[in-house]
Amino acid sequence: MFKDLIGKVALITGASRGIGRSIAEEMAKNGVEIIINYKTDESGAMDTLRTIRDTGGIAEVYKCDITSYNDVKKMFQFIIDKFGKIDLLVNNAGISKIGLFMDMGEEDYNEVMDSDFRGVFNCTSLAVKYMLERKTGGIINISSIWGNVGASCEVLYSAAKGAVNSFTKALGKELAPSGIRVNAISPGVIDTKMNQCFSKEERNSLESEIPMCRFGETPEIAKTVVFLASEQASYITSQVITVDGGML
Ligand code: NAP
Repeated sequence: MFKDLIGKVALITGASRGIGRSIAEEMAKNGVEIIINYKTDESGAMDTLRTIRDTGGIAEVYKCDITSYNDVKKMFQFIIDKFGKIDLLVNNAGISKIGLFMDMGEEDYNEVMDSDFRGVFNCTSLAVKYMLERKTGGIINISSIWGNVGASCEVLYSAAKGAVNSFTKALGKELAPSGIRVNAISPGVIDTKMNQCFSKEERNSLESEIPMCRFGETPEIAKTVVFLASEQASYITSQVITVDGGML
């Protein structure tokens, strides 16, 4: 338990399932008050809410497509009206698109870059506005190992996550004098809906490329997020931390 997190307010984007849900639950266990953001998966978001409230945590759900600056602005107004502040932002929401680069068109570009990078820009610019007023805050971006090294057949996704990595490093430096830390986590292959597209054979082959011989579990990412958010990580900023079972 990270006691310094008690009473902090955190927005977790894409918390209706997968890694985002785990982050929301793990943060709530540490006494953080949570805003569970989602775009379409209302029942998943309500499940996250129920789990947190059933274990005595404080949380609200807010539906918002993070690709729209105006909608994100309204979400932050809701947070300020309801909680009075924002201490932590976890930019987790994202999509992946698998296919040959030559089959990707402008629509694919817009979809991936808007969800995986514009959304990070939108949420971060609003969060920083409020964090700067109090000269404190923490931002954690969920990137991907493919943003570090690039993946064949995931060129747009790799590019968007590469942008998230550079954004993290640059913004961390700019905001460090203002008491705001900015870090990213680059997960390897984590067992979520995002990877349900793999056949049994593909999954086995992927697992054989991972030194730990298995996909990661969502709490393994969530616990790293909580650590980065806590005072235990008080001198860590501008970093991209890889959590991948030794894959890279
Ligand atoms: P997931 O199970 O597909 O969940 C994605 C979440 O993002 C959902 O809650 C979804 O909500 C939300 N979302 C997507 N677009 C959104 C938008 N425009 N506005 C608001 N919410 C939106 O994915 P995951 O595996 O947990 O991945 C979470 C993050 O980790 C992503 O950034 C992903 O790139 C990254 N990551 C995942 C892996 C992996 O192996 N799973 C590896 C590396 C990095 P709705 O369904 O309501 O739209």
